[in-house]
Amino acid sequence: MTGPNSQGPTVLYVVGAGRSGSTILDLALGSMPGFFGLGEMVRVLDHRYRKQDRCSCGHPPADCPFWAEVFARAGRIAPNWNPQAYWTLLRAGPIRYAHLPWLMQLMTRRAELKLMREHYKALIQAAAQVSGARVLIDSSKLASAGRLATTVPGLDTRLLHLVRDGRGVLVSRAKAFKKDVDAGVERDMRGHGALRSILAWGNANLGAEWLRMTTRGRPSARLRYEDFCKDPESAWGIAASALALDEQVGRDYSALSGPVGGVHQIAGNRVRMGGPQHIGFDTAWYNKIRPGQLLLFHTLGSPWARRYGYGSLGALREVVP
Ligand SMILES: [Zn+2]
Repeated sequence: MTGPNSQGPTVLYVVGAGRSGSTILDLALGSMPGFFGLGEMVRVLDHRYRKQDRCSCGHPPADCPFWAEVFARAGRIAPNWNPQAYWTLLRAGPIRYAHLPWLMQLMTRRAELKLMREHYKALIQAAAQVSGARVLIDSSKLASAGRLATTVPGLDTRLLHLVRDGRGVLVSRAKAFKKDVDAGVERDMRGHGALRSILAWGNANLGAEWLRMTTRGRPSARLRYEDFCKDPESAWGIAASALALDEQVGRDYSALSGPVGGVHQIAGNRVRMGGPQHIGFDTAWYNKIRPGQLLLFHTLGSPWARRYGYGSLGALREVVP
């Protein structure tokens, strides 16, 4: 394993539960000088070969000028470039074990871990060359893929644990979406029940905490999505100091106050397709959450809610802008 001062591009790996606002965070941070948002790197190869999918620039992934060049260069950098084999291994390892990185490590052969690390590193190096950025954002979120990213020799990977109020996650996950590739929804997505969502939220945060604990000595930070939405520059400033990123990219966070937009994201939430947008505080879920969902959340999710400073709904309503 290499330390944060090792040679090579810096990766800011965003770890946490799904529907926590990672796509908008990726778009926002990627708008700052020196940064580039790559979206969910763990799923990039899935979208790469789908002709009907769209990058946020509007092109099918294979025709996107950024990603076409990244894949071409990665093929020259990796010693045994085989994107099909890499994608198969990602599905069997980091994607399958999602937020259980210790299980992924246990169940995956050493040679397979090595091959995945080589491919990930080649893609990151290629993306650094093509974008010219010093910090590349990978918002894959899975703790297992994060474990892989933090154990690549020669890559300086730092961890950002993104947390969102589990009640907001629960309401967001309850929504179903119809396939609409132009809007960034590649397949029908069914909604999830409250119990499953609360357990998934807790499990994802447990995985993120484990990842940070087992990579001590490496700069990392926790960021609450709500704090970021309310005051992006201040919230990011605190995280950036903990991540020791200022020395690489400076302290000009003013881009966060303007409209932010993804240049080339082929894997991520549908909001990547909306074009430049202002970071907004999503309050809609306060009025949508049902009493039964709240009861279940406060029965099962309260240890996590307390840990991350999410109080009662009444207290939250008072601070909602
Ligand atoms: Zn593109």
